Amino acid sequence: MTGAIQAGLDADDAAASVAERASDVFRVWKGVRTELLGEGMAYAAYHQGLLDHWTGESGVQKVWVMSAEDECPGDVCTKNADAGPLDLKAAFPSGHILPPAHGGCLCTLAEARPPENH
Ligand SMILES: [Zn+2]
Repeated sequence: MTGAIQAGLDADDAAASVAERASDVFRVWKGVRTELLGEGMAYAAYHQGLLDHWTGESGVQKVWVMSAEDECPGDVCTKNADAGPLDLKAAFPSGHILPPAHGGCLCTLAEARPPENH
């Protein structure tokens, strides 16, 4: 963004033209952001639904399941997955209760049931 504005100033563009360019960049950026935010909210709502469902069942824990996609390359999701089964209300190492842990995170949750007593 500042690069686009600086390039305009260097080229001696009229202020209106620079403002227009900045506005274009912002519009595109905002669209991408809004899309990611919307996806993230739907994703979080889905996982909240899973947690709500499991809360009714005794002894069920949750496990962070890494996405096989490249969207979760950092170690944030890896640490969450490595944490193993946790209580439903417990936070994963990243501090998240449920996915997504970051924009574009495609991890999910699985239920972990204690071994049944016979
Ligand atoms: Zn992830």
